[in-house]
Amino acid sequence: MLSHGIIQAAYVIAALLFIFSLRGLSNQESAKSGNIYGMIGMAIALIAAVASIKGGLHWIIIAMVIGAAIGLYLAKKVEMTQMPELVALLHSFVGMAAVLVGFNSFLDAHTMITSNELTVHLVEIFVGIFIGAVTFSGSVVAFGKLNGRISSKPLSIPYKHYWNLAAIVVSVILMFTFIGVKTGAGALVSLLVMTIIALVFGFHLVASIGGADMPVVISMLNSYSGWAAAAAGFMLGNDLLIVTGALVGSSGAILSYIMCKAMNRSFISVIAGGFGSDGSSSSSSEEEQGEYREMQPAEVAQTLKEARSVIIVPGYGMAVAQAQGAVSNITEKLRGMGIEVRFGIHPVAGRLPGHMNVLLAEAKVPYDIVLEMDEINDDFPDTDVVWVIGANDTVNPAAEEDPNSPIAGMPVLEVWKAKTVIISKRSMNTGYAGVQNPLFFKENSYMLFGDAKDSVEKVLQNL
Ligand code: NDP
Repeated sequence: MLSHGIIQAAYVIAALLFIFSLRGLSNQESAKSGNIYGMIGMAIALIAAVASIKGGLHWIIIAMVIGAAIGLYLAKKVEMTQMPELVALLHSFVGMAAVLVGFNSFLDAHTMITSNELTVHLVEIFVGIFIGAVTFSGSVVAFGKLNGRISSKPLSIPYKHYWNLAAIVVSVILMFTFIGVKTGAGALVSLLVMTIIALVFGFHLVASIGGADMPVVISMLNSYSGWAAAAAGFMLGNDLLIVTGALVGSSGAILSYIMCKAMNRSFISVIAGGFGSDGSSSSSSEEEQGEYREMQPAEVAQTLKEARSVIIVPGYGMAVAQAQGAVSNITEKLRGMGIEVRFGIHPVAGRLPGHMNVLLAEAKVPYDIVLEMDEINDDFPDTDVVWVIGANDTVNPAAEEDPNSPIAGMPVLEVWKAKTVIISKRSMNTGYAGVQNPLFFKENSYMLFGDAKDSVEKVLQNL
């Protein structure tokens, strides 16, 4: 066992490395070193935590070996497109851990601390279990929605905001009962009843959120999981867990805020969980809206050759088809022909924030031609050809034109303003939000049907 001083020093170093890690992750070029700082920090934290344990080390080692084996297996197996599901599942583990730590601390509390500290400790336990249980059940629902096992449509029960409010009020009353009773069966029952309420509350909070708003929910749950970890840190008296939890909690909250702004949603309504579920009926549901025109790969190649400026807008379909390599090759070819090629990236394109940036970076597309929505949205009217590759909701004009659309108000890439728009996808099916896209029926739009990778490769051959 290491001395207390050495362990605290190790925790400070790990906390600093986590801060460097976040700093690194804020930029693509430094993201790799950011990850390395994070890994070293986590290794130091784990070694210090294990070294501070007084007994039962073999149990910890067995648990770590099992956990590491499952983690390695999942990380190797998971596809990039399944990443958000995995993240949601991992958040649920953090929530569950906070609940278990909470019950354990409660059972242990009276032997470990003086009665003066007891009240504070009991509040920590109560709040920790509440946040943990909400995070756990909310993340399980998010996992189910993302992999399609639970419908992505918002659950809408009557008076849902009142139910949420009732859950919070009853939990607060239970907390005072719990602190009043302090020990024994009465306290345990308050804790158990609150846990059940919090589980149902978390379930309802996420189930009532509509499909296209899931990215914000994922980052909100990320934030909740941070606060759950911080609460566990308070219960265990572990400073590093408090610091790390607060870092995750606040960075998740900042990311949620940025995403809400990017999607023109109010942060408060997201926290309240009513988000994306105003129940407004939509005229732009799933039925098709008129005639569409098609182009064959040879015609697409010809159109691209004649263009001076091209903007490629990738989306979830590019990730599914793993078309990023082919897209990178065609970009190089077109640039070699003297055509200006740029990329327009929507903040929620794909299935996790930064999804497209990671894929394009992996395929060695130069960073300086990959632009964010705000940087490129004004350039569409002066662009000859926009090529939408497997994107749908993020280029849907209904968000601007149809106030009844479920995605009304979400900022989108205004691709329809370009002279010609080519859309690569396999069918006329809708995207994640389940909303039909009027873009496909505009006069300057042409569909290029087929798997995105095949289509791009065929166009490349024709070039
Ligand atoms: P969408 O999900 O709106 O559309 C993707 C399109 O790709 C589909 O219409 C599909 O059409 C097509 N597609 C699927 N597979 C292929 C393939 N192999 N080849 C060619 N096309 C294919 O994607 P966007 O990126 O535009 O929007 C992302 C959506 O996901 C938004 O609604 C966003 O809110 C949501 N979301 C985003 C998250 C994030 O953090 N980024 C997290 C969770 C959800 P077809 O079937 O006809 O081929």
